[in-house]
This record gives sequence, structure tokens and C-alpha cells, in this order.
Amino acid sequence: MFKDIRIPKRYGVMVFALLLCGLSAFFLHGYFSTLSPSYSQFKQWVIQDMVTDLTITETTIKGTFNPKAEPGGPRAFKTGRVHDPELVSLLEDHHIEFKGSTDGSASQAVSSFVNVLIFGLVAWFLWKTCNDPNGLMSVWKSKARMYMDRDIDVRFTDVAGVDEAKDELLEVVTFLKTPEKYTRLGGRIPKGVLLIGPPGTGKTLLAKAVAGEAGVPFFSISGSAFVEMFVGLGAARVRDLFQQARLKAPCLIFIDELDALGKSRDHGHGSHEEREHTLNQLLVEMDGFDTRSGVVVLAATNRPEILDAALLRPGRFDRHVAVSAPDRKGRLAILDVHARKVSLAPEVKLEAIAGMTPGMSGADLANMVNEAALLAARHDGTSVGPRDFDEAIERVVAGLEKKQRVLNRSERERVAHHEIGHALTALLLPGADPVHKISIIPRGVAALGYTMQVPTEDRFLATRTQLENKIAVLLSGLVAEEIIYGEISTGAHDDLRKATDIARRMITDYGMSETLRTAAFDSGPSPLFLQKDRAVRPAGYSEETASGIDREVVRLLDKQKACAAELLTRFKPALEAGATILLEHEVITGAELAAVLEGFRPQPA
Ligand code: ADP
Ligand code: MG
Ligand code: ZN
Repeated sequence: MFKDIRIPKRYGVMVFALLLCGLSAFFLHGYFSTLSPSYSQFKQWVIQDMVTDLTITETTIKGTFNPKAEPGGPRAFKTGRVHDPELVSLLEDHHIEFKGSTDGSASQAVSSFVNVLIFGLVAWFLWKTCNDPNGLMSVWKSKARMYMDRDIDVRFTDVAGVDEAKDELLEVVTFLKTPEKYTRLGGRIPKGVLLIGPPGTGKTLLAKAVAGEAGVPFFSISGSAFVEMFVGLGAARVRDLFQQARLKAPCLIFIDELDALGKSRDHGHGSHEEREHTLNQLLVEMDGFDTRSGVVVLAATNRPEILDAALLRPGRFDRHVAVSAPDRKGRLAILDVHARKVSLAPEVKLEAIAGMTPGMSGADLANMVNEAALLAARHDGTSVGPRDFDEAIERVVAGLEKKQRVLNRSERERVAHHEIGHALTALLLPGADPVHKISIIPRGVAALGYTMQVPTEDRFLATRTQLENKIAVLLSGLVAEEIIYGEISTGAHDDLRKATDIARRMITDYGMSETLRTAAFDSGPSPLFLQKDRAVRPAGYSEETASGIDREVVRLLDKQKACAAELLTRFKPALEAGATILLEHEVITGAELAAVLEGFRPQPA
């Protein structure tokens, strides 16, 4: 895919160079080429009033054409002088200016010097253009330009709502500030830190803030810029980047959109040699430098799952920092940062705005504040008021809904009930993994909300009850939707797939079926990991067994669904109360939900 982009660009340079040659040849022809007419031809021109400004030396006659007589053609000519006593009177008759010169070599020298100079300039320009990635090329390829900034004025206070990420990056700041302190104690500082988070959550801003806080130079380049480069340039650029950074150490290198460059080599359409060269060079550079040199590499991505595993190995980007979408409190903090830059009417309540903007990222909020300020200016207001904000929120939300980036009110309510459904069942079933947190902040494209369970201990074995509980918890999202809304939605798709997979493996692999005889039916690799092979998987058992397995899977799923439905119907008030709290806070912990649940448990008599 990228190849299509690259080839025309390469031709583009050639076309440009040819054009430049042609143009300069044209101009040079016009200005500097001289005709060499015969003497009689020259006299003919004189008679026709076509020439002016003659310079007559002992052996030559040079002159220029009358511009009126011959537009566009050569401007000058030069002919040999013959003995012709009538010439002077002929020139005087035609009012042609002429002067004698004993020596033409001085002006000739000047003109040939100018010639050489101009050709030299053209040649230099072409050479620079084609060879030097940092040269004139970057004028029209500014996207690919490496960017170095000595005095970054971004500080941690400019980045809000991502306190955990800031805490983790503080170590990098301290290291960049006083590298000696670390190296003296022999501590190992991460070479590469990967910032992972959805677009617009402040990854670039954080990287700049690290450089700003540490007061070190900031080198940045975007992974997507490498992809568009000419053959061999990407790798050269990476080498150059690290070389320059080492000279400026301590400093920070930031590689934005690392996924564009570091896409897993077995992903994507065919191989892309150029990207691979660049990626390999990056790996070589990262392995080659020592953190003691004082260079730290930060990178950002919103698609960590497609990154080449080689990038994540120890000594490369082995430290990962999550930069998550802001919750309500985070949005308030971000609004605080950006509202500082506009003059706010006193009646504006930022808390209320934070409550009205679920799903918005930091960039969306910055954009929204800016929109409000523009609206205020259009309304000739002296400050940005609540009405400007209302209108700005509406505009931004409409745009995001169109791009399917945020949920509307009723969708959010459904997601809240769905997630509380999962979490309540997990709390209620004995032996299910404890609930860590529940969130309705969309994470990536797939999950609209999520319930995070953390196993209490590393388990190598799962009992039948544990697996059944897992299925019940997975099915509880859609069960909650059924109880509250009477029908399920497409949001339960992934849960169903996972639950079915567990049920099938219980029966075919683990011998946990009640009706089928205990045996392992060869079901091949888990469909969870190898979905595309699902259709061609050879069945190592008879048709009859196959339909038996299918029936058994359905029976198991139905049983666990009934169990979840029984629990959630009994605790419907807790389900509704939990959803209300989740809608309000967007993220709650398992402990908080457990406290709500306690209020609804039947009191022992
Ligand atoms: P990312 O790199 O994660 O896509 P950026 O750092 O480019 O996001 O964010 C774009 C802009 O949005 C920033 O320049 C800033 O104005 C605003 N922004 C994003 N996240 C935050 C945040 N956490 N705090 C303050 N401003 C933010
Ligand atoms: Mg960015
Ligand atoms: Zn679910």
C-alpha cells in the first residue's frame, strides 16, 4: 500500500530535476548564448535596424539585438571583424551606438565567470536536493523533518488528568536532570519508554513535558514520516537522529506513531522493505547506545497490539506507561488547564462541563474550550460564558458522534447496566475473581466499557466450578440488559464469543461434560487465537459427536445464563443503584460496588 505512495514521489524528484535543468538551460540560452553570424549577415541586421550597443575590438564586433526587433530569441551576437571602412558611416546613418575596445578579454572573463557561477549553483542545488535528507528536500517534505527544540516550555502542570503516567515519567525526568547521580549508583534507567493510549490523551504533550521539566533538548520525529521516505532515507535518518542526540546528551528522543514504523512484520499486506530497514536501524541504534550516555527514547502509540515484538524486548521499549482517556475528575483538571488561557465568565461552572462531556479526550476538551472562546468572540462577548460552552459542547459532541467516538446518553446507560451486571455476578458468585474496577470510559474501538477482574493468585489449573462461574460472569452483561431493557444489544458480542469458547473447550478438551463420555475431542487450537482457521478446522470426530457437542455447549451456556439471571433478578435494585453511580463517576472500584451491594443484601434474621 505504501509502495504506491513512494514510487510517484521518487519520480517526482526526477521530474523536478529535469524541469530545473530545462528551465536554467532556457534562461541561460536567452541571456548568455551568442549567435555567430557572418559579417554580411551582420551588416544586413544593421541595415534592418535590428542591433544596438556594438562593441568593436580589433578582431571582433559584439552587440545585442534590438529588443523590439527580435523578442524572445537570442539577445547577443558576435562576429569577426573584416576591414570595412564604410562600417562607421553605416552605423552612424542608422543611429546605432558603438564603442571601440582594445581588449575584450575583461568583459569576456566576467561573463564566463558568471556562467560558471550559475552552473555551479544549479549543480549544487540539484546535488543537495537529491542527496541530503536535511537539505532543501525538507522544504517540501517538512513532515519528514526531524525536529529539535532546545527550550521546551511545556511542564507537567500543563498535562492534566494523567497523574499515574506523570508519576512514572518523573523518574525519567530526574535521570535526565542528574544522570551522574544514577550512574554512580549503578542504577538501570529505562532506555525506551512507550506511552500507550488513545488519540488525543496527551502523549505528545507528556513527552514534551518530560523534556521541559528536565530542561533538555527534545528531538522528535513521527513514525509515519519514515514510511513516506525515499529508499534508504529512513534508516539514514534514524542513524542521524541518534547521532545528533548523542552529541546533545542529556536529551530526549520522541518517536510519535511508533506503530506506523514498528508494525509487526507478520502483519499487513506483504512485506515493506523500506519500513523494515528503518525498523532494523532503530533496533540497532537502541541496542547500541548505553543509557549512561544520557539519551532516553520515548515513543507513543495507540495500537500497541500491532507492534513488532522485537521493539518490546528488554533493552528497547520495555517500560510501558498507560495514558488513559480522562474520567470526570480528569476532565475537570484538563478543563482547568485550558480555561486558564481564556477569560472565563464567573458564572461558568467547569464541574458541570466536565459532567456533560463524557467520552471526550484531552484534545477534544482543548478543542471545545477554543470553540467556546471563538463563539464568545463572535457574539461580541467580553468573556466566555455558559451559553458559549453549551453551544461548543453541542458542536464537538455532534462531530464526535458522527465519527462514532462517543456514546449518546441512552447508550451510556445501557453500557453502565451491562458492566454492573458483569461486576455484580462476579461479586456474588463464590470463588469468582475479585472485581478490580468497572469503567464506562470507552477504551479503543472494541470495548465500550469494561470490568476488570484480577485473579487473586496465579493459577495453572481451573476447576469446573471456576470455569462455569467465568461463563456466568461473561453472560451477565447481556442478562442485565435483558432484565432492564427487555432485550440485548450488539454490545454483548465479544462476551458471547468468549463464553462459547470456554464452554466448548470444557466439553471437548477438559472432559467436563455431563452427558458426553469423558474424552478429549481434538478441537485444534483455540478459536480465540486462530479465528481465521476456524472454518477449515478438521473435525476429528463424527458428525453425530459434533452435533452432540453443539447441543452440550448450548446447554451449558443456558444453564449459566439462568444462574446469572436468577442472581441479577434477585439483586435488581443493586444493579440499578450501581449503574446510577457508575454513570455519575464513570469509573468505580470493585470495593465501591461491594459497598453498594451490602445495602441490598437480605439481612440475616
Ligand atoms: P496525543 O499525542 O495523545 O494524541 P496530544 O498530546 O497531541 O495527544 O494532545 C493534543 C492536544 O490536546 C494537546 O496539545 C493539548 O492541548 C490537549 N490535551 C490532550 N491531552 C491533554 C491533557 N491530558 N491535559 C491537557 N491538555 C491535553
Ligand atoms: Mg500525538
Ligand atoms: Zn460485556
